Amino acid sequence: MHKWLETHLNQLNVVNQMDFEKGFTRLGYSTEEMQAHEEFKKIAQDLNLNVTRDAAGNLWAVWEVEKQAPLIAIGSHLDTVHSGGGFDGAAGVLTGLAAIKHLKDSGFSPKKNLAVVCFASEESARFGISTIGSKAVSGLLDKTSLEQITDANGISIREAVESFDLSWENIEQAERDHNFLESFIELHIEQGTRIEDQAKDIGVVRGIACPIRLKVTASGMANHTGTTPMNRRADAFAAIAPLIRYVEEQAHIINEEQKVPLVATVSTIHLSPNALTIIPEEVELGIDIRSVDDRLKNKMAAKIQQFCEETEKDRPGVSIQLDKLVDNASVFLDDEVQRKLTAASRQLGMEHLLLDSGAGHDVMNMTHKWPSGLLFIPCEKGISHHPKEFASTDDLWKGTQVLAQYLKNEAGGLS
Ligand SMILES: [Zn+2]
Repeated sequence: MHKWLETHLNQLNVVNQMDFEKGFTRLGYSTEEMQAHEEFKKIAQDLNLNVTRDAAGNLWAVWEVEKQAPLIAIGSHLDTVHSGGGFDGAAGVLTGLAAIKHLKDSGFSPKKNLAVVCFASEESARFGISTIGSKAVSGLLDKTSLEQITDANGISIREAVESFDLSWENIEQAERDHNFLESFIELHIEQGTRIEDQAKDIGVVRGIACPIRLKVTASGMANHTGTTPMNRRADAFAAIAPLIRYVEEQAHIINEEQKVPLVATVSTIHLSPNALTIIPEEVELGIDIRSVDDRLKNKMAAKIQQFCEETEKDRPGVSIQLDKLVDNASVFLDDEVQRKLTAASRQLGMEHLLLDSGAGHDVMNMTHKWPSGLLFIPCEKGISHHPKEFASTDDLWKGTQVLAQYLKNEAGGLS
C-alpha cells in the first residue's frame, strides 16, 4: 500500500512529486481546488465508488451495499492556504480512500454503506471563513452573513461558488438530516509534535479548542515627534504596548496553574499614522485566545479587559476600547467514537495518545449533528501551512489501517 499512498498523494495534489519550494496554493472554490476534486473523483471511481457532488461542492464517494443501510463517512478537504503543504486535508482524503481500497483488497464485505467525503473550502485563506463545505452539510452555514464577503481580488463568495458550477441560492440544499450518517471520522495531520514527542503511533482527539478573538483599539492624539514635549503627549502606542507582554505573561501563569493548556497571542497590529515623525494616534491589536476549557479563555479575556481599564486610568488622553470579535465555544468530540478509535488502534497493536486540537477542522461542524471523531497522524517537526509540511508514508499507512479497522468494526463484515 505504500506505493499506492505515494502515487495517489501526488495525484490528489495534481503533481508528479511532492517537493515544491513554493508549496501548494489551492484556495477554496478555485480552479486549483476543482482540479484536485477531479482527481479525487477519478481515484474514487477506480475504486468503484459512486461519486456525487452536493450543493456546496462537497464530493461524496459512496460504497453502497444497500440503499436503506446506515452510512458511515470518513474524509477531510483538499483546499490549502497560500503556499501551504500537500498533507493538510489531503492526508485525510487520501487515507479515507486508501482505507476503502484496503477493505476491498482484503475481501471485506460491509453490512453498512461507507463513504469518503471531500469537503469544499475548509481553509479561511480566501474569504476569512473556514469550513464552508462542512458547515453547509451540518446546517451551520449562515448564508446572509457571508454574502458581502469578498476575496483579495474583490470576488464574492457567491461569484466564487457559482464559478464552481454551483448555485449560491441552493447552497443550503447541501444540508443533511440527523438520519443521514451513523458516524463521521476525519483524519488529519497533527500540526504539532506531541505524538512524536511521546513516541506514540497515532492521536485520538478529545476536544477542539475554538477561539475568543479580541480587538483592542487605543486612541490618543497625533502630533509632531520633534516639537511635542514628553509630558504633553497622548501616545496610543506607548500606552498599549505593555499589553503585548502582559498577554504572554498571563498565558504562562494560567498554564502553570491549570492542567488544561491555554494559548494567547497578540497576532496583529495596525498603527496609524505609522510615520517616523508623528506620535502614534491609534493602535489596533488583534488577540487570539484558545483552549478547550472555555472558562480559561474567559479568564484570559477578563484579565485583558482589566488591563485595558487600568491603562486608560493611568494614561490621560488615551482611550481604550475592547471588542469581542469571535467567541466560539470549544467542541468536544463523541466519547463513544473516541473509545472505538482507541480500540481500533489497540487491535492493530498501535499505541495511541489522547490529545486536544488547537486548530479547527471540518469534524467540529459534523459533530454538531452526528457522532464524530478525529484522528491525528504525526507531521514532521509539527510544521504545517508551509511548503515543508510532511507526513511519512509509514504514518499515512498507520492512519489508513486505523480508519479501515474502525470501518470493519462498525460495518460488521462477515459474521
Ligand atoms: Zn486541514
